[in-house]
Amino acid sequence: MDIQKTTRATLDELKFDYSELPLKVSNNGHTLQVDAGGTGGVSIGETRFNLIQYHFHVRSEHTMKGVSSDMEVHFVHKDAAGNIAVVGVMLKKGEMNPLFKSIMDMAPREKGEKGGGPMGNPGEFIPLNKGYYTYVGSLTTPDCREGLKWIVMKQPVELSENQIKAFKDIFMNNARPVQSLNNRIVLESE
Ligand SMILES: [Zn+2]
Repeated sequence: MDIQKTTRATLDELKFDYSELPLKVSNNGHTLQVDAGGTGGVSIGETRFNLIQYHFHVRSEHTMKGVSSDMEVHFVHKDAAGNIAVVGVMLKKGEMNPLFKSIMDMAPREKGEKGGGPMGNPGEFIPLNKGYYTYVGSLTTPDCREGLKWIVMKQPVELSENQIKAFKDIFMNNARPVQSLNNRIVLESE
């Protein structure tokens, strides 16, 4: 999705409470997925979403005014009613990220493989600035569902060049081609 035109709005504050978890990483053939089993999550207004899993895309699946980032991480959450909210964070070349290092150190290289390892706090992929864009859309991969809430953080988080290369060595390009927003309204926090 290309985020281009946005409407400024007073949006609910995002309150993340991700916590330290033993890393469970699987290669599902599309990406590396880290299972969180509903521990930790994000509160958006009155609604509490628990973190189910997070996974990575190379290059980013969202673009900002046509510009993509090196990678993107998607945090997939569910609320008590089964509604899904996905938080996307752009990952760009810069400093080494210690959590991504732990994930890549044990990354299963073949489809269907799983790896377990040290503790990791997914909060290491959440930027300090909690400004965001939001729209209602569908899940990009693997299954498409309408009506889920997308949140895209404005501020990117850094990974080192070698870390991005290590991921690309396993998954060359697993991002879907950028889709048109089809007149969906994108709201931007003030
Ligand atoms: Zn994704």
